[in-house]
Amino acid sequence: MPSRPSNAQIVRLFDLISDYLALDGESPYPLMAYERASRTLRDYPVSIADLASRGGLRELPGIGEAIETKVLEFIATGEVAKLDELRAKYPEGLLEIMHLPGVGPKTARHLWEALAITNLDELKLACERHALRGLPGMGEKTETNMLRAIATYEARSGRSLAGAVEPQAAKFVEALRAMPAVISADYAGSLRRRRSTIRDIDLVVASADPSAVMDAFAALPELAGTNERGDTKLTAVTHTELNVDLRIVPEPSYGNLLQHLTGSAGHNVALRAYAQRRGHKICEYNVEHVASGRQITCATEAEVYELVGLRYIPPELRENQGEIEASEEGLLPDLIELPDVRGDLHVHSDWTDGRATIEDMALGALEHGLEYMCFCDHSQSLAMARGLGPDRLAQQMEVIRELNTRLPGITLLCGIEVDILADGRLDLPDESLAQLDFVTASIHSAFSQPRAQIMKRMTNAMQNPYVRSIGHPTGRLLGRREPYDVDLDELARLAAETGTFLEINASYDRLDLSGPAVRRAVELGAKIVICTDAHYPTDFDNLKYAIWEGRRGWLEAKDVVNTRPLSEFRAYRKA
Ligand SMILES: [Zn+2]
Ligand SMILES: [Zn+2]
Repeated sequence: MPSRPSNAQIVRLFDLISDYLALDGESPYPLMAYERASRTLRDYPVSIADLASRGGLRELPGIGEAIETKVLEFIATGEVAKLDELRAKYPEGLLEIMHLPGVGPKTARHLWEALAITNLDELKLACERHALRGLPGMGEKTETNMLRAIATYEARSGRSLAGAVEPQAAKFVEALRAMPAVISADYAGSLRRRRSTIRDIDLVVASADPSAVMDAFAALPELAGTNERGDTKLTAVTHTELNVDLRIVPEPSYGNLLQHLTGSAGHNVALRAYAQRRGHKICEYNVEHVASGRQITCATEAEVYELVGLRYIPPELRENQGEIEASEEGLLPDLIELPDVRGDLHVHSDWTDGRATIEDMALGALEHGLEYMCFCDHSQSLAMARGLGPDRLAQQMEVIRELNTRLPGITLLCGIEVDILADGRLDLPDESLAQLDFVTASIHSAFSQPRAQIMKRMTNAMQNPYVRSIGHPTGRLLGRREPYDVDLDELARLAAETGTFLEINASYDRLDLSGPAVRRAVELGAKIVICTDAHYPTDFDNLKYAIWEGRRGWLEAKDVVNTRPLSEFRAYRKA
């Protein structure tokens, strides 16, 4: 009997099946079932195989008999007949190819049928040898774009999206804090600094009994196994195949180690240099007063900064981007926090590619404490997403306005995420846009245009009197798609000039604008909106990721329009 599969292996199984089905030209409905299943399973923190063996799998949302049967088959035999059947039909390398930006299943299959390309290496070679430009609909530009896409794809390996990992890390912290031998526990590293992608989970614990902590930690059901164990250090791996490093110190040094392991490396180097100029030496165990040789341990991080004459610097700012000087001068920002956000201005529904009804999305927003929300579904040119033309948009408005009259506790606004077309025109006439409470304009096509054309599109959109914000302004998909060629300074200046807001999109594979871009945009006078781009009612949970990204960009609530009560928000006018 094969060993029990990890959660990551089971999730990969369903991702594989749905990918192969897409390659096979399967209709979207079975695909959506697998997509739903893999979404549920991906978030499940303890062993799926255990749950399945106990017969409990179908208690999970979106898991039906077909999925359960396949999981059980996989556990029993290490294989799934359906997948083997598909594998025999297509080379596995096509799956990597179809996930390259701008490629998709049809093109991947076409490349295979026309040029016998079966994997990324062969595709790379074919592009370098200009073999693609002979094919219909492909040219020199296709080859350049594909080479760039391959490079992006190769660069991301080994990093995970922070938003996918953080819930797991938070659970570890919770479990540690509940242990009798634990005094304090936190996660550190780039996750604590709220970087959008991370390599592993670093945990820091204060305890007088490291061995008891390590025993209890190693027994957590979220862990698939442990690798190395020292006196105060344990490394382990989760069912989702993430590495976890656990470090334990005596309580009096907890602040020192937490500060040290939170980083960044650049921040710590700068901090040490700053301390040295003031007669102190900082290491992971203490702060030493050089003249007297006295070593002072710090139970909290705040004490570390205080000892060398600085105000506490929040982890999100520790990137060696001027935070030490700002702290010294008392100029640190008053960073935005999650409860500051009162409204969400970019929400989808099943009228286009959202996965829930207008009412369920509204209830989701209400449950998350939002005071107002705006539906911004896709516009007509996104045929794949069943985008709205003027007529359906008008119908949708009626439905939203009607629901608004009978749903207390939240105000529902009508909007659209209107496409900025390749030539810079908007995808809906001004007469339609004029009916709406709020219009977000986004680029969803012709990503590889030169900077001048991208900026022409952005300018046209921002100069439209009805366009209130630019959605996911750079189009980046973390690890999957490079941003389009936006001149960020120019964008921010235009935004400030026209009174158009720039979005921080909270999808954790977008986080667009990025923190550094937000900081620059605000410096140049732009106002920000923080939006979920929710497609599921649970996506409102993602708001926190946009808050984190904003904090990395030194963002304050005063620069974010949807921190305002509805009446003040409505009072904003375009310039
Ligand atoms: Zn969009
Ligand atoms: Zn959207």
